[in-house]
Amino acid sequence: FNAIEARGLRKVYRASGGQPAKEALKGIDLAIPRGSIFGLLGPNGAGKSTFINILAGLVMKTSGNVSLWGFDIDVNPRQARAAIGVVPQELHIDPFFTPAEALELQAGLYGVPRPERRTMEILGAMGLADKADAYARTLSGGMRRRLLVAKAMVHNPPILVLDEPTAGVDIELRKQLWDYVLELHAKGTTIVLTTHYLEEAQSLCDEIAIINHGEVVACEPTGQLLSRI
Ligand code: ADP
Ligand code: ADP
Repeated sequence: FNAIEARGLRKVYRASGGQPAKEALKGIDLAIPRGSIFGLLGPNGAGKSTFINILAGLVMKTSGNVSLWGFDIDVNPRQARAAIGVVPQELHIDPFFTPAEALELQAGLYGVPRPERRTMEILGAMGLADKADAYARTLSGGMRRRLLVAKAMVHNPPILVLDEPTAGVDIELRKQLWDYVLELHAKGTTIVLTTHYLEEAQSLCDEIAIINHGEVVACEPTGQLLSRI
């Protein structure tokens, strides 16, 4: 089985507030192999976030099938959800929780055994051990991003998805973030990221799917794709 598999995946956002209905995904077929670093590349409005939000359980698909780690999200929603961690695009951090509190809460939601121990472990792995009890508002942008990665990984999912992980992140932080992500990949985590930067996808991903207007217009190993551009 693949890490992620989508078959005929469609999403139509209903019309609202004078905005017409919008078909954001027009029947996506995509197979993301286990162990890969997979890039979803495409311009703004292509449907990347919609796809990821469906994987994350934040957006309801209109039709089609999605499996995560072999679990169909309709048939085995709990197992499917447990297989994936998603880092959202926005750096929103709940201002009322310290990093340790936020992670323990998340661990509890996923039924992680010994949540306090797991929290300290993941904070250490993300270089945030000394920020465990800090006020959320005192965390820098880079720390927030790492906290969001920690939150996505607290239940140890085999798949980590990052939505535009380096949007608005300076070069230093970008490098730091990729060091963490590549470390996770080396330990066996399947990585999926969205970006609208070809160079980023090119330097990191071993396979790239290009999405445009809600359709997959290409999906190939990176080297092969680049040789045709
Ligand atoms: P990307 O992440 O590639 O920029 P999105 O998935 O955010 O693309 O958006 C795909 C299309 O769906 C765009 O035309 C966008 O305006 C529209 N869209 C996204 N979210 C909503 C929503 N909640 N309601 C209505 N339309 C939406
Ligand atoms: P002030 O700057 O006046 O202390 P804050 O914005 O720090 O106001 O906090 C407002 C309230 O929220 C306070 O009661 C504070 O203890 C609580 N609070 C703020 N941030 C956190 C946090 N990260 N964890 C727990 N409580 C917090």
